[in-house]
Amino acid sequence: MQAEPIRQVVIVGGGTAGWMCAAVLARVLSPQQVAVTLIESKDIGTVGVGEATIPTLKDLNKLLGIDEAEFVRQTQGTFKLGIEFTDWGRLGDRYIHPFGGFGLDRPEVRFHQMWLKLRALSADAGDISDYNLSLVAARLNRFSPSGGKGLLATMRHAYHFDASLYGRYLRRFAEARGVNRLEGIVIGVEQRNDGFVSGVVLKDGRRVEGDLFVDCSGFRGLLIEGALKTGYVDWSHWLPCDRAFAVASENVGPLLPYTRAMADQAGWRWRIPLQHRMGNGYVYSSQYLDDDTARARLLATLEGRPLAEPHLLKFKGGHRRRMWEKNVVAIGLAGGFIEPLESTGIHLIQMGVARLATLFPDRGFEPALIEEFNRQSTVEYEQIRDFIILHYKATQRDDTAFWRRCRDMDIPDSLQQKLELFRTSGRIFRYKDELFAENSWLAVMLGQRIVPRSYDPVADSIPVDHMSRAIVELRAGILKAAESMPEHAAFIRSNCQADTVDL
Ligand code: FAD
Repeated sequence: MQAEPIRQVVIVGGGTAGWMCAAVLARVLSPQQVAVTLIESKDIGTVGVGEATIPTLKDLNKLLGIDEAEFVRQTQGTFKLGIEFTDWGRLGDRYIHPFGGFGLDRPEVRFHQMWLKLRALSADAGDISDYNLSLVAARLNRFSPSGGKGLLATMRHAYHFDASLYGRYLRRFAEARGVNRLEGIVIGVEQRNDGFVSGVVLKDGRRVEGDLFVDCSGFRGLLIEGALKTGYVDWSHWLPCDRAFAVASENVGPLLPYTRAMADQAGWRWRIPLQHRMGNGYVYSSQYLDDDTARARLLATLEGRPLAEPHLLKFKGGHRRRMWEKNVVAIGLAGGFIEPLESTGIHLIQMGVARLATLFPDRGFEPALIEEFNRQSTVEYEQIRDFIILHYKATQRDDTAFWRRCRDMDIPDSLQQKLELFRTSGRIFRYKDELFAENSWLAVMLGQRIVPRSYDPVADSIPVDHMSRAIVELRAGILKAAESMPEHAAFIRSNCQADTVDL
């Protein structure tokens, strides 16, 4: 017999995770059948970071029916074509990990294999970075929306936005669709004899009951860990950074269409350009750098005047052993955190909510649904983890103890195998549903000086003169397409400038 349906969903936390969950559940569930309540506390506040995204966010916006120009305007957003990495392979190195593909693949062989072959022949192959339209446009500070036909179809984009404005934007969306918001501090979690959560108790004495609880309470993990003690898979031996200082500053210079990730003595610094300000941070390892020095370094390297005091965040790379336990699903920082490099936090929230929606239970809480959720979530975290570790491991820097440790550390077998495969003949495989596609691995591996010894012999089946001609034409075509785009700031001015700024 089918169990009773879920009638009450309670989301604990109103950061990006809480409001993303609320918006999606309000969109996909019928408010007549399922009531969604979100509890948040102004006194506790949110983590206040998480302002760079990846192109998958466009799928969420599509699901929610969000208009892109309106969304960018309301969140003081800008467009993102990739991430520029400086000083990662060696001091002085610079590369962009762009969204979208490199060159044009043939059915029988990948573009980069043809490029590797031409390089091996010392032909005019140019730099791999000349063959990605997002990258070339980013380098020229140009922007045009991705999609469409021809070369534009190879492009992809994402956004930078003000995290608090994004939360407010989603809150308006969710409340307009019936989500009930409660302001209050959760001080207690009530459990039935079988451990299922039956309700949470607020500081003012109110009690909020529910059938399903979504823990979006941030690093605290009030329900998933505080009450259910699911434990944590700790990856700090592979992910050396465990702290960050974040601070906003005034904008100086051109509004760039990409995030910047600048390696520093014991970690890296970020720059996230928004219409009204720049987001900055220094992510570092507390084993190799003390807080005062990190804070001073962040402030000393700002390009514009700071707009607030830097705030310190502490984290541990990894995830809950079980992100869904009994009737509690942990999403966002409550579920885990890898680290900010490559901007995957918001994506993981999006995937967590989407997964919850596709595996939405009834009050029977079938173990098969829970196990599937946990299995998929774990695979996803591990795949992203490997890609992040790659950035640290693939360094030739030996100027600080931090970088020497990264260079010499052991890495997961899954990453080791990917590296060996690439080193032999440039082959890269994307495993099922893996977030980072071949182009991402290619950009970072080549950008950090991992050069294949050879190439795929299938590239030998294409006549060299044909390949040479085609690649030169492609390079020129990509440059021309990028040069014909408007400047990033000009595009925003014409389409989605916020009312309060003058770009
Ligand atoms: P929080 O923002 O911490 O929200 C927790 C909520 O729970 C708040 O509303 C709080 O008030 C509430 N709460 C907590 N305890 C209680 C209680 N007792 N009672 C009531 N309410 C309570 N991700 C990206 O995609 N891109 C990035 O560029 C990026 N940069 C990052 C940089 C750093 C340094 C860090 C640490 C993270 C970054 N992330 C990034 C991750 C991203 O910030 C988070 O995934 C995202 O903000 C979601 O946070 P959250 O909602 O889970 O937690």
